[in-house]
Amino acid sequence: MGLLDFLTGNDKAAKECSQKDCHPKMFCYQCEMSMPEGCGAHGQEIGTCGKTATKSRLQDIMVFGLKGLAAYREHARELLDMNPNSEDLKTLIEVDDTMSETLYFTLTNVNFNFDEHIAQLMKVGQAGVKVMDLLSSNHTKALGVPTPVTVTQNKAEGKGILISGHNLDMLEKLLKRIEERGLADKINVYTHSEMLPAHGYPALRKFKNLKGNIGKAWFDQTDVFSKWNGTCVVNTNCIVPPEKSKKVANYVDRLYTYKIVGIEGAKKIENDNFDPLIDQTLSLPDVTGFDSDETLVTGHHYETILTLAPQILEAINSGKIKRFWVIAGCDAPGHGRDYFRELAEKVPADHVIITSSCGKFRFNDIDFGTVPGTDIPRYLDLGQCNDSNGAVHIALAVADALGVGVNDLPVSIALMWMEQKAVIILLALLSLGINDIYIGAKAPQFVNDDIYNFLHEQFNLNVISDIEKDFGKELAE
Ligand code: SF4
Ligand code: SF4
Repeated sequence: MGLLDFLTGNDKAAKECSQKDCHPKMFCYQCEMSMPEGCGAHGQEIGTCGKTATKSRLQDIMVFGLKGLAAYREHARELLDMNPNSEDLKTLIEVDDTMSETLYFTLTNVNFNFDEHIAQLMKVGQAGVKVMDLLSSNHTKALGVPTPVTVTQNKAEGKGILISGHNLDMLEKLLKRIEERGLADKINVYTHSEMLPAHGYPALRKFKNLKGNIGKAWFDQTDVFSKWNGTCVVNTNCIVPPEKSKKVANYVDRLYTYKIVGIEGAKKIENDNFDPLIDQTLSLPDVTGFDSDETLVTGHHYETILTLAPQILEAINSGKIKRFWVIAGCDAPGHGRDYFRELAEKVPADHVIITSSCGKFRFNDIDFGTVPGTDIPRYLDLGQCNDSNGAVHIALAVADALGVGVNDLPVSIALMWMEQKAVIILLALLSLGINDIYIGAKAPQFVNDDIYNFLHEQFNLNVISDIEKDFGKELAE
């Protein structure tokens, strides 16, 4: 099923959707000229001001991209606060300028030019490239360059704190405070979801009480947290409010939030004071019920992979590596993501899988081994969603060494998208001119035929359908 099939109603979900009239041509209610209940709410294809459905949706994509950009910008600024320098601050100002300019662009009666809408979207993408590079470099400046590590999965003991989110800085501060209080042999700290890559960073893994990983992607929080006897922390998106699931024991009295994250009834960690969290953890029973022998591998930051560049180039030139696959992105509940596990399972032994973000939990339990005849791992986990820039750095370095364009490399890209961080990552890739990307599990609701046709023609962007149809040729190489 392609996006056009979905949008033109040639699949079951689209038919159900059209029966419920849930696909307005556009929706905008931002100014006083709005039609009753919003321009487009009753099927209009053009707003009172003359904004078309396509331009309305392009402006929506800009705003969604800005939301993802804002999240990365905030994480980057937190790190910069600790280590300010003029070059990084200049980058931050450039990103902020793009944010304000783009918001201005979406104001009523500012711009009705299609090409300029696309150009503005690419500007947002370029800001995404900058901010991901900034975040990545500040993570490595603060915590060192990650190296591969095998960690326990679903195995825990003693008093435990379980942390979900993306904020590595918070994790370091907590570990330092536990150590300062002389409690490192009494409290163990575990990661969940997008915190898994923490184990690869030298400044974090040196803490012996940073033990292992529990659970998978963000949306198993209610299940995992309710079974966890210790305390839990959610330090960024993606969170699941405990009350959403009445079936599981409520753990809100053991739940802490950090900075912008908020949950009714949970305790906020104020001004980096981790003592209430530590004290409650000490008062709770030891963690039980997590005694698996599974392990996971993480820590293949792009800077580490680039140190393997000579071996990788030799393997490409000698035919030992035939293709790279970027199978990455955001995991989400619902149907359709089995596709990505099936794809990873079908990738031949002389192909390498590069991943990032929480979508990796769809297949990171598989032991992919090494490329035959080499020591190069077949599974490379670049890190969190913001570390997706690493795939670009690797591709550019390999393309440069081989003297070819990045779109001429033997690379296939299948991305899961969930929310607005994925939107800014996709815009970043498009702004770099990277083609032939497949996205899924399903088509975004904010794209219409015009936009899809444009992206398909310009970038060969596709929505996943059937593995054989999408990638049969590449899998047969
Ligand atoms: S900006 Fe245009 S499309 Fe939006 S509510 Fe106003 S008149 Fe309608
Ligand atoms: S990778 Fe995406 S879906 Fe997963 S936790 Fe991060 S932002 Fe959320």
